[in-house]
Amino acid sequence: MAAEDQSASVEIENEQPASTHAGLAGNTSSPATKAKKSSSKKPTPVKAALSPAAKASEKLAKLGLRKDMDFVLHLPMRYEDETEIVSMRDAAMRGGSTAQVEGLVTECDIQYRPRRQLVVTIADDTGQVVMRFLNFYGNQTKQMAVGVRVRARGELRHGFFGAEMVHPHYKIVNEGAPLATALTPVYPSGEGVPQALLRKAIANAMTRVNWRDTLSDARLAALNLQGFETSIRTLHNPPPDVDQYSLMEREHPAWERMKFDELLAQQLSLKRAQITRRSKGANALPVIGELSNAFLLNLPFSLTGAQEKVLAEIRIDLRQEFPMQRLLQGDVGSGKTIVAALAAAQAIDNGFQAALMAPTEILAEQHFRKIAAWLEPLGVKTAWLTGSLKKKEKEAANALISSGEAQLVIGTHALIQDTVQFKKLGLVIVDEQHRFGVSQRLNLANKTEAGKVPHQLMMSATPIPRTLAMTYYADLEVSVIDELPPGRTPIVTRVIDQNRRDEVIARVQAAGQEGKQVYWVCPLIEESETLQLQTATDTHAMLVAALPELNVGLVHGRLKPAEKQTVMGAFIRNESQVLVATTVIEVGVDVPNASLMVIEHAERFGLSQLHQLRGRVGRGAAASVCLLMYQGPLGGTAKQRLATMRESSDGFEIARKDLELRGPGEFLGARQSGEAMLRFANLETDQWLVEKARNLADDLLKNDPITVAAHLERWLGYKEEFLRV
Ligand code: ADP
Ligand code: MG
Repeated sequence: MAAEDQSASVEIENEQPASTHAGLAGNTSSPATKAKKSSSKKPTPVKAALSPAAKASEKLAKLGLRKDMDFVLHLPMRYEDETEIVSMRDAAMRGGSTAQVEGLVTECDIQYRPRRQLVVTIADDTGQVVMRFLNFYGNQTKQMAVGVRVRARGELRHGFFGAEMVHPHYKIVNEGAPLATALTPVYPSGEGVPQALLRKAIANAMTRVNWRDTLSDARLAALNLQGFETSIRTLHNPPPDVDQYSLMEREHPAWERMKFDELLAQQLSLKRAQITRRSKGANALPVIGELSNAFLLNLPFSLTGAQEKVLAEIRIDLRQEFPMQRLLQGDVGSGKTIVAALAAAQAIDNGFQAALMAPTEILAEQHFRKIAAWLEPLGVKTAWLTGSLKKKEKEAANALISSGEAQLVIGTHALIQDTVQFKKLGLVIVDEQHRFGVSQRLNLANKTEAGKVPHQLMMSATPIPRTLAMTYYADLEVSVIDELPPGRTPIVTRVIDQNRRDEVIARVQAAGQEGKQVYWVCPLIEESETLQLQTATDTHAMLVAALPELNVGLVHGRLKPAEKQTVMGAFIRNESQVLVATTVIEVGVDVPNASLMVIEHAERFGLSQLHQLRGRVGRGAAASVCLLMYQGPLGGTAKQRLATMRESSDGFEIARKDLELRGPGEFLGARQSGEAMLRFANLETDQWLVEKARNLADDLLKNDPITVAAHLERWLGYKEEFLRV
């Protein structure tokens, strides 16, 4: 098998031997080490039946590389400069940066201290460089025997014996071996996929692919963009005279074209999905009836101007015969729930059912309790559906839903199960929509009569910066509640070293004695839920001991729903004054009397998460305090996050910062998982391209369906199916 591999092989870079390319494409390691490797990792029988080529394509497919165009669009994540050889003396002065050197091996030893490693010294006329390999094959010692000429490229450090490279890429070369004439691309890769294999596969695909530009010359000229083929070729095979800086920084016109193309594909795909959904039609809900009016009259407060404004927008949407697809944004505590309930009331006034889906049971339950308390006295029949209901209860809820008796249904993911059939679903409300995948949200939207789509209201307490909304949410209308209800006092945020925990406990005690309530949030421990639970339990025990005169509750994700309900209920009724919680309280909990929030290991939380948590206090009239305890020393990003929290209470400002620190993929969470549509564009710096792409998308959708189809096929291919639901 190894021999077959060799025939297909191209030059392989020497990467860490332990991690990559065992047998995928040939490398220079000896048959002996290969045999050792394969015996320790015995292939399964099925795998063994695959030819090396088939194995390779399986691995490539895992990277999303199937069709020729997939390969062509698999662009370098960075470039390496192998065009020059630096003298070792110069290299030694460039500590910290990457350089390529060439010289003869003067020493080659296996050392055992501080750990087993292969240490090879190479030298040229000007100096020497020590190469260290912590993982190595036995034959590497022979390969780099004294006197052999080695070309090595890696990051230079100042070691004990002068300039050092740890795990450099290296090649055995003859004197005068040609140098690369251009930058060498480095591709995003996965396990067992060496760069050489990718390079070769991409080069092959480039000979077969259809290069036709999806955009006409006239359009390109108007947009001041470069051609598709030229751009791609520049990126895969940078010409020697290319502006290296702009290529590496992704500012080169070739990159610009790629960014534009993918932004355009995203706009086209989302907008087309929107048009398709619209064309299905919806039931118009024009009546603002008795229920809506009575509800407003009975409210103990009047709506804020911002609430009035978004309500008006929603009411207009609901009157239409095509589905509303609106995203309601508002900072934590801005009062989205009431707006959602008013939208539901309108659906019910028109004889339809409304459904509200929330991402967690606690949140769903909060909504249920609150909205039911508003609407049930007015005669609305509600149903409650979550995964944790007993079979009998589920059946009962399903019966209410399918008969149409339940006018308002509130629940979790359970609502999108196949067994749930609505009689006449007119409106779907999704809270914290970014926690659901697009498909889940649309699943609920499909639960109405054939050929129609219910109106959809999506809510988000994580304000989405404008650029993001313009790209990822191009298919949604956006309403913003940009005002908090009156009478809120701003939350004071303090950042405190955790070695001052005693002072924090004293504050909790004082707050409890003044009749205030306190949240104590335990650290997020991503690696281990068990450990997280343990910490919460310990903290609870510690606080119970330290605060004998207060009741301290504990809520975490492992509690059964009924237990959670008991603990939360006690806190809501002020029977317990302190609530120790894991992040389960992150969203939606509304206890206005709580005015002190302690967050332990705040440095481990993301910005938006901290903002959400902090938003649990400051809901009543009392001045509220949020104490962010941290364990030093803090890294740069953590420092920035905590500083942002201390300085700002504006959700939009915080979200913008969060986006900057984390990037859109992580920021948006579920919606984007598995559909990373923007690989190249950077929403912070490429906003001007977003606007151009948006305008062109509108134009193309109106006037040029052929180009739309061609462009989407090229950029999204099969991924587009997913969005068309
Ligand atoms: P969020 O937008 O975070 O979901 P909620 O809907 O939970 O916010 O509202 C936060 C709190 O503000 C609730 O206690 C709610 O009853 C109250 N509230 C909402 N609107 C108003 C208003 N117009 N005036 C006074 N209080 C309001
Ligand atoms: Mg809410």
